[in-house]
Amino acid sequence: MIRLGLIGYPVSHSLSPKIQNAALKACGLDGDYSLFPIAPDDMQALKDLLARVRSSEITGLNVTIPHKQNVIPFMDELTPTAKAIGAINTIYMRDEKLIGDNTDAPGFLADLKKFVNKEIRKHGNMNALVLGAGGSARAVVYALLQDGWKVTITSRRIEQARQLASSFSNYQLQIASLADLRLSTFDLLINATPVGMIPNMEQSPLPENLSLPSNVFVYDLVYNPRETKLVRDARAQGLSATTGLGMLIEQAALSFELWTEHTLSREIMRAAVD
Ligand code: NAP
Repeated sequence: MIRLGLIGYPVSHSLSPKIQNAALKACGLDGDYSLFPIAPDDMQALKDLLARVRSSEITGLNVTIPHKQNVIPFMDELTPTAKAIGAINTIYMRDEKLIGDNTDAPGFLADLKKFVNKEIRKHGNMNALVLGAGGSARAVVYALLQDGWKVTITSRRIEQARQLASSFSNYQLQIASLADLRLSTFDLLINATPVGMIPNMEQSPLPENLSLPSNVFVYDLVYNPRETKLVRDARAQGLSATTGLGMLIEQAALSFELWTEHTLSREIMRAAVD
């Protein structure tokens, strides 16, 4: 029996049970993926749940807000990716050690590569602008830097962007305020803020007075609704754009692989939430 689940608070809106239960079924595996809501300051509940992974009663867990950093002290080891990002989204046992991993970064990159064409990689400057400097921005920035992009971060609290940049001090990261930006210098624009998410579907993270340049690819991490205002505006201008459902599926598939050693077609997982 493969017992999986998600730690977070709140978790009731999560699409992960649908995706992961479909994956278990498609692989013919006996198991389930449950929700484990744990209040933000309930460290004892976190510890108790993680003890169930140590004892192999639970095979593996995903972690979401607000516990992506809270679980770190309970791990025996962090993978290099989780260490670099400073956040965990996947937990499992290996060689009797409790491992904290992060599949958000490789999940984002795998999905991005489906869209960003070879032309940008060959002829563009590979300049990326990331809006937001929270948890998902950390994973995205790490993935982009590993992939050779030049990254600029902008966030409403510039201090948060500075903190993010200082965690990747081996790289040249630019920090800018939205007001000072020349968007035409970017090949890729990524929204890593929740702006535009249900129920604020008429909001865009880009101010009205900033228009998207031609040839920029827009990647919005928000996946609820399936088409955000940012993506709609970009498409209306003839630009290529996507929301974050693909990243959600990719990170889920990578976690599933770590727990079960089964590689699954992404279509099966996507069909579970489409
Ligand atoms: P987070 O850690 O809370 O960070 C959010 C960032 O957005 C912070 O920098 C925050 O700044 C900023 N922000 C929030 N509201 C804003 C506003 N009204 N205007 C400007 N900036 C604002 O959240 P997260 O985990 O990074 O998640 C961000 C979004 O990405 C969510 O919608 C989430 O669903 C989505 N996401 C998608 C995937 C996927 O697989 N597709 C994965 C992870 C996250 P302050 O700190 O000042 O509020």
